[in-house]
Amino acid sequence: MREYNIAAIPADGIGPEVIAAGLQALSVLERRMGTFRLRVQEFPWGSDYYKQHGVMMPADGLDTLKAFDAIYFGAVGAPDVPDHVTLWGLRLPICQGFDQYANVRPTKILPGVTSPLAGVGPGDLDWVIVRENSEGEYAGHGGRAHKGLPEEVATEVAIFTRVGVTRIMRYAFRLAQARPRKFLTVVTKSNAQRFGMVMWDEIAAEVAKEFPDVTWDKMLVDAMTMRMVLKPQSLDTIVATNLHADILSDLAAALAGSLGVAPTGNVDPERRYPSMFEPIHGSAFDIAGKGIANPVATFWTAAQMLEHLGEPDAATRLMAAVERVTAAGVLTPDLGGRATTREVTEAVCDAIHSAN
Ligand code: ATP
Ligand code: MG
Repeated sequence: MREYNIAAIPADGIGPEVIAAGLQALSVLERRMGTFRLRVQEFPWGSDYYKQHGVMMPADGLDTLKAFDAIYFGAVGAPDVPDHVTLWGLRLPICQGFDQYANVRPTKILPGVTSPLAGVGPGDLDWVIVRENSEGEYAGHGGRAHKGLPEEVATEVAIFTRVGVTRIMRYAFRLAQARPRKFLTVVTKSNAQRFGMVMWDEIAAEVAKEFPDVTWDKMLVDAMTMRMVLKPQSLDTIVATNLHADILSDLAAALAGSLGVAPTGNVDPERRYPSMFEPIHGSAFDIAGKGIANPVATFWTAAQMLEHLGEPDAATRLMAAVERVTAAGVLTPDLGGRATTREVTEAVCDAIHSAN
C-alpha cells in the first residue's frame, strides 16, 4: 500500500473547520479506494499558538515539516494579531523555506454554482492560473527616503531572475501540455515595463520551443482582465507574475462563484521539499464558529494534493463527488444555499462512498 505523510496545519478562524471537513473526506476516500494510506499529523500552529508562545510556529517548524510528503493548510489571520505576524510567521516562511515557487490555482465553474457572468456556466470557464511565487513584485526590495517629509521617495522594486522566470515558464508550459487544450496564455505588462516584463516575453518564447505541441499567446495584464470577463472560453492555462497573478486569481475566483470554492497549491515542482495545499480564502472570522464555512475549496485543494502525490484516480474521485454534491444544490450560504459545512461534508463523503 502506498503511504504518504501529511502535515495538517488548520490554524485560524474557519481553517480548523474546513480542514476537519477535508480530512474527513480524505479518510472516507482512502477507505473506499484501499490503494493508498495517509498518515496525518496535525500541528496546532497559528494565532492561538502565537498568543501562548509569542511565535506562530516553533523555531524548528520547517525542520519538522521537511519530513512530510505534503502540507494541508487551513488559513491564517486573527482580528487581534497583526497581519504581518500571521503572514510572515507561518505561511510565507513555509512557501519560501521550501521554495514553493509555483502557486497553482485551478478555477472552474462547478455544476450548480452560478457565475456572476450572465450566460456563462460550467464548461465555459476552466482555467489554471500559475502564479510565480518566489520573486517579482513581492521580493521585498525597496525603501523609503526622507520618510514622512514632503520630499519623501519610496521605491518598490520587482526582482526577476532568468532562473526564476525560466522555471515558472517551464512549469506552466508543462502544465498546459498535460491539459486537453494544450494552450497557455503568458501575461505581462511589457509595453509599459521595459526590463523584467520584456525578459518574461523573451523567456516565454525560448521555453515555448521546448513545447512545440503547446499553443501559446501573450496578453497584457490590463487587456487580460477584459478577456477573462468577456471571453472566458478563450483561456485555459495562464501564467503571470506574483502581483499580476495575485490580482487575476481573485477575479477568477469571483467569476467562478465564490472565494469559498477556490483552491491553491504552493508547489515545489522539483520535489525537494513538501508542497503546501490550501484554500485561497482567509480565516473569515465573520463566519468562524457558525458552521457555515464552505469546505469545497479545501476538498478541491485535497484533490490537488492527491494529484501531486501521484494519486490521480483518488483526486478524480474526490472532485467527481464534490461536483455531484454541488450539482445537487447542496451549497453553503456563500453560494446562495442553506447547507452547513457538515451537511456538505457528509454529502461529499456519501458521494465518494457510493460512486462506482
Ligand atoms: P485574509 O486577509 O486572510 O485574506 P480576508 O479578510 O481577506 O482574509 P477572507 O477570510 O478570505 O477575507 O474572507 C473574505 C470574505 O469571504 C468574508 O466575508 C468571508 O466570510 C467570506 N469567505 C471566505 N472564505 C469562505 C468560505 N470558505 N465559506 C464561506 N465564506 C467565505
Ligand atoms: Mg484576503
